[in-house]
Amino acid sequence: MSHRDQNGNIAYFSTIARNISERKQFEAELQHQATHDVLTGLANRVLLAEQLQTEMNRSQRRNSVTAVVFLDMDNFKRVNDSLGHGIGDQLLQQVSVRLGRHIRPNDILARYGGDEFVIVASDLENADAITAILDKLNRAFEHPVHVARQDIFVSFSAGIAVYPDDGGDADTLLRNADSAMYQSKADGGRAFRFYAPAMNERQQRLLAMESELHRALVRNEFVVYYQPQAELASGQVTGAEALIRWRHPQRGLVPPDEFIPLLEETGLINEVGLWVLRRACLDMTTYTQTHGLCPRVSVNLSARQFASGELVQQVAQVLEETGFPPDRLELEITEQILISDLQASKAILGALHDMGVSVAIDDFGTGYCSLAYLKRLPLHVLKVDRTFVAGLPADHNDLAIVEAIILLAHKLDLQVVAEGVETLGQLETLRSLGCDMVQGYYLGKPAPLQALAETGALAH
Ligand SMILES: [Mg+2]
Repeated sequence: MSHRDQNGNIAYFSTIARNISERKQFEAELQHQATHDVLTGLANRVLLAEQLQTEMNRSQRRNSVTAVVFLDMDNFKRVNDSLGHGIGDQLLQQVSVRLGRHIRPNDILARYGGDEFVIVASDLENADAITAILDKLNRAFEHPVHVARQDIFVSFSAGIAVYPDDGGDADTLLRNADSAMYQSKADGGRAFRFYAPAMNERQQRLLAMESELHRALVRNEFVVYYQPQAELASGQVTGAEALIRWRHPQRGLVPPDEFIPLLEETGLINEVGLWVLRRACLDMTTYTQTHGLCPRVSVNLSARQFASGELVQQVAQVLEETGFPPDRLELEITEQILISDLQASKAILGALHDMGVSVAIDDFGTGYCSLAYLKRLPLHVLKVDRTFVAGLPADHNDLAIVEAIILLAHKLDLQVVAEGVETLGQLETLRSLGCDMVQGYYLGKPAPLQALAETGALAH
């Protein structure tokens, strides 16, 4: 505001700071109201469209997938009609809070209108990755929502459209997710449908399998099989690799490649991996008590377990609980796991080494391991990948590679285990090349613990 002197000229200007900040706050409030839903505080459809477009642009740059999940509550009208709008509003608020708690930190949650919500999940590696998010949402609403002293079970009809496959702009993607949602509503609700028909069958199968995997651990459906490893010098079986199997009540034994990727994706691998480690140590302790010999047992680690920050402490705890000798435990990791964070790997391997546990590099020769790492890290065993063993003895390239790996390993004081040994010819070649140990069908398939004792020695 301007202040004038007696002659009417402007003498000075004054502003009242409070007024400005109040106005700014008011403008911010207006802006917030224009872009957010009053009842739930979530983004409204205006902000959603804007944020979705941003995510799609980012997806395009990063070559990743963005999924739009359109959710419509199945029973909202009934709640509203029977319990009144007040309760209906409270329910919507509670549902929005629960949804918000079960999405990933950077996912977008918006109220689209009425009882419709939209989740935007971006930066997905592929369309399958949405499974884990859907499963989490399913699980989140297994328990009722408590509103006005009532327990209300909430379920959704959901439709999913994926960028870039199902639409190139925000409007199209939302429309397609919406039409997929109508499809799942038409099928009776409480279901997810993808816009692309091909995705549905596959995703239904993955989703079903995922909830079964959650139960498998509780229901004791996982088993550990052991594949014997023999020392070539003595011909004796001295160890075994622990391999997880899933004994599904209806489908029988499920091959590992059908469920391990899902365990990885959902993070269940941490829990299941720890279970395998404990089971293997317990089994081998039992074996030692009955047979007098303590075999070396190799347990595979996943990238997630290795990066969890809890591995060293978990291994120590399992060894203490089971009384299994650390120098009989070997952990198998792949080259990729090792080099993804070299500093961290070095610390973990060092701690395991100090504990007396050995570490093997699995599938050696298939990754990008620099020889320098082998020298710098406390490793103990190299497992030659089966693809090289398969060509022995005839394939000259494979022969040269296996020979070089064995020479290199021995120079670095590492033991060599050849995997996938299926014939006497392969075995003899490996023996002549100075390989330390073999594993493969020639010696024995992965089998339950009892079979390990029956595995005979190798003939000389
Ligand atoms: Mg392995």
